[in-house]
Order: sequence, then structure tokens, then C-alpha cells
Amino acid sequence: MPPPRPAELSAPPAEAAPEAPTPPPRPADLGSAVGAPPALQRAPDEAAVESVSCAAVFADLNIIAEPAPPLTNGNGNSACGVREGLTLRGVRLADGSTVMLQSAVHIRCAMAAAVAQWIRDDLAPTVAKSGSPLTRLVGVGAYECRLRNNQSSGKISEHATGNAFDVHAIGLKDGRTLQMMGAEPALKSLREDVKQSACARFTTVLGSGSDGYHEDHLHVDLAARRNGYRLCQWDIR
Ligand SMILES: [Zn+2]
Repeated sequence: MPPPRPAELSAPPAEAAPEAPTPPPRPADLGSAVGAPPALQRAPDEAAVESVSCAAVFADLNIIAEPAPPLTNGNGNSACGVREGLTLRGVRLADGSTVMLQSAVHIRCAMAAAVAQWIRDDLAPTVAKSGSPLTRLVGVGAYECRLRNNQSSGKISEHATGNAFDVHAIGLKDGRTLQMMGAEPALKSLREDVKQSACARFTTVLGSGSDGYHEDHLHVDLAARRNGYRLCQWDIR
């Protein structure tokens, strides 16, 4: 038998069903963007992310990519491989400009979709506010048959299934290259925004201050964990 309805639910609908609180408008000034807006703190629909097929990714004309044959037993290791993967080169933004990866990466299709959406919907708009449009991602990596943190023992890396993406720096149209990690005060709010968006889209985000292996680059992946547990570790100084 269901529990009795709380008294407040019996009130007239106008009072009983208030509008869900909306996040405050995002300040135009990056310097005042402190703390994640509530909308960015929700978990993404992981089931939806997982179900993204390669065909669906290629149907998105904003992806600059080529199909890649299934890769199993990479380097002779049965734990390595990408069954549904593609070669990602970049993404096309709404204004027709492109953000290219410094080098093409072999990556799982579902992860490619998440990375592309992050670049297009989060990273590019955030970076553009710094004064120059985002044009490239520098020092990128995805599939690689190895253990975590390039160690000789331990758990297999998400990179070994193409489920992870690394980026060292972002390139701007004006020629500047901004390192993802660092301690420049002028880049602090930009990095805070990048971290917020990454932690909203991916289940793992590792940067400086996380484990000693990510002092010079940002790692994101879609590792599936018990109870939807997520890692968002990037100590921005
Ligand atoms: Zn990585």
C-alpha cells in the first residue's frame, strides 16, 4: 500500500508544482564564473551515451572522421581493441569553422560522439570568450593498448578500448597555444569552465593534482562504474 500523500501535495497545483529552479544566467565575464551552474552538475544520460552507434555518429555531419575497421586483440592483448570505432580528425562548429585534432585518433564511436559534443557545445564557446576562436586541440591521444598510466602492472587503461581521450593544449585562431594544465592566473577561470564541462560530460576527468600522471594533460573517459560513481579530479591553481 502506498504511503499517504504528503499534505503539501494536496495543495492546488499552482503551489504544489513549482517550476524547477533554473540555473542562474551564466555571467558573461569569465572571471566571475565561480562554481558550476546547477545544470552542469547533473550526470549525463550515460545510457544514451553508451548506445551511440557508429552510424549515428557518422550521420552527424559535424564530425570530421572516417570509419575504422574493428580492432580486436590489439598488440596481441585480448583486453585491447575497439570493436566500434572510427578515426576522428575534428569537428565542425555551427558557424562552419572547424576544430581539428593535431593528429587523428582511433576512438570508440560512443566516446567520439561525447568528445565531439564537448568540443562543439562546451569547449569552443568557452574558449571563444577568451578572445579568439578555438581552432585545434594539441597533443591528443585516444586508443592505445596499455595499462593505466603506462605502468607495467595494474588495471587496463580505458585508452586500451578507445574509451578515453587526452589533450595537452588548445590552439587559438590568433596563433596562441594554451596549455590545459598550468598555474597562470589569467587562465584560471577558463580552466575552471573547461573542468566543469568535462566533468559534466565524462565519467572520469583527471588533471593536475589528481594522481601525479596528469600534470601536463587532461584525461577524460567514459568508464562505467558501480552506482554511477564519477571521478572529477583536476586541482586548478
Ligand atoms: Zn589518458
